[in-house]
Amino acid sequence: MWIFLNNRFVKQEDAVVSVFDHGFLYGDGVYETIRSYGSRIFMRDQHLSRLRRSADAIGLAMPIPEKDWPGLLHEAMERNGVGNDRCDAYLRITISRGVGEIGLDPALCPVPTVVIMAKPLHPPSRQQYDQGVSIIVAQTRRNLPSALSPHIKATNFLNNILAKREAIAAGVFDSVLLNWQDHVAECTVSNLFWIKGSTISTPSLDCGILDGITRDIVLTLTREAGLHVQEGHFGIEALHQAEECFLTNTSMELMPVTTFEHRPVGSGKPGPITHQLQTQFVVNRRRFLESDYN
Ligand code: PLP
Repeated sequence: MWIFLNNRFVKQEDAVVSVFDHGFLYGDGVYETIRSYGSRIFMRDQHLSRLRRSADAIGLAMPIPEKDWPGLLHEAMERNGVGNDRCDAYLRITISRGVGEIGLDPALCPVPTVVIMAKPLHPPSRQQYDQGVSIIVAQTRRNLPSALSPHIKATNFLNNILAKREAIAAGVFDSVLLNWQDHVAECTVSNLFWIKGSTISTPSLDCGILDGITRDIVLTLTREAGLHVQEGHFGIEALHQAEECFLTNTSMELMPVTTFEHRPVGSGKPGPITHQLQTQFVVNRRRFLESDYN
């Protein structure tokens, strides 16, 4: 595998980062995960904008000019034989504070560390989409926005990892985190939607969640389809009463949830509105790909 590290592509075995990197020492950094459909990157500019917003939020200057990112992402795909007719790509950009003496002052690190990885995308299995997945409520709360904003896609991911450990211990696909007000926030790497009657609901951004790029597309598609959608603050009873539920993220698209807290959601099978939105997503996703000329 070829990895872009700081200013050049190196072989995986040479892609090593110092133990003094503040990403390693303190989780001081930001990242993005992006995907391609064939050779075209999905929501490229939106992911790069979110990366910049995350970097701005922690006072980290983007070390690569905006105009250079598309070329680097494509070179990473080409060098690794992904992002083509045979294989969609999973891309990960990581920017850490960089190498510096031990201490919290970001000024100790004059140069950020930049890493770009490109590998084959491995979506969940067909069976998971067909049957839906199980989720529980985590004991771990989502980070308090005034302590560490969930809008920042930070390399410090312990909050989510602790909730994921709970899901693994319970033998389920994932867990949903509540926020400081007992309101539903999001799952460990995805946003959450549910349906009751003809209303689709999802936590609003001020619940302390990542502003998911797939979430945003789903909101657009629901509105375009004339479906009633509400963003708001909801307790877990809303999920207990849901007839359908699904998760969204870049690599999964829409994943049905058919078990919540060990009880079936609705009929216990992926529901019709979830199916409708999955289909709409597939039909419309071309609109969200970069153009062939980028
Ligand atoms: N929420 C969290 C905590 C995430 O880590 C992610 C994606 O990694 C998402 C939501 C979904 O975001 P997106 O749709 O932009 O992939």
